[in-house]
Amino acid sequence: MLEVKDLHVNYGPVNAVHGVSFAAGESQVTVVLGPNGAGKSTSLRAVAGFHKPRAGTVELDGESISGLPAHKVVRRGMSLVPEGRKIFFPLTVEENLRIGGYTASRASGEKTMAEVYDTFPVLGDRRHSAAGLLSGGEQQMLAFGRALMSQPRIMLMDEPSMGLAPTMIETVMASVKVMVDKGIGILMVEQNADAALELADTVVIVTRGETTWTGTAAEARADKTVVHAMLGEAALDES
Ligand code: ATP
Repeated sequence: MLEVKDLHVNYGPVNAVHGVSFAAGESQVTVVLGPNGAGKSTSLRAVAGFHKPRAGTVELDGESISGLPAHKVVRRGMSLVPEGRKIFFPLTVEENLRIGGYTASRASGEKTMAEVYDTFPVLGDRRHSAAGLLSGGEQQMLAFGRALMSQPRIMLMDEPSMGLAPTMIETVMASVKVMVDKGIGILMVEQNADAALELADTVVIVTRGETTWTGTAAEARADKTVVHAMLGEAALDES
């Protein structure tokens, strides 16, 4: 289980995150919603070890991982699927997957890769193709597969539906469900609230650098504050 409490992150003098709290349990989906610039990506990246938090606690299974660099966070069992996927287009599907498995021994890497192909057969079919030739949805699956190569218990996902056609979004969300059913806990930042709420167990709203609301998906649909957060700051200001 991942537990983040009262996270603060600065960019130089800019206090981008000042009081973000959320949690993610195994086999559960936590969705983080909020307007542009609220600090969602910054929080995710700080939890994954790409920014050092100024304050707050980040615990994985009861042990502090606050301030650990990304490669150590991965070894503790948590991996990030970054915004924009960040896959290497000229490399093959298999080469991209190997990059995700660099913390594993060769033997366990091969076994995990077979599991990834089992989970996402399309990646197996295209294993020798350049990643840049995959469709957007397949590239997102490759980004998931690369994160799976480190055998995470928790996966952090930054806007997996970004730039995808509606039918592809459905495919990507179905892929997320497959990983949840395998026991992985998901913490997902997503602009496409409708698609994300279909999967969510818990919803967290981040507004202007802090967590302002936490509840179930059903509560989120019924709560005006959450609707405002989905529509953005303008809607909040008008109310
Ligand atoms: P979006 O959905 O638009 O990505 P977000 O909620 O993920 O929004 P962040 O990208 O985390 O928000 O940005 C939080 C704040 O930090 C914003 O005010 C943003 O302008 C600022 N910010 C983000 N990256 C940097 C950076 N590298 N240097 C300085 N400020 C930054």
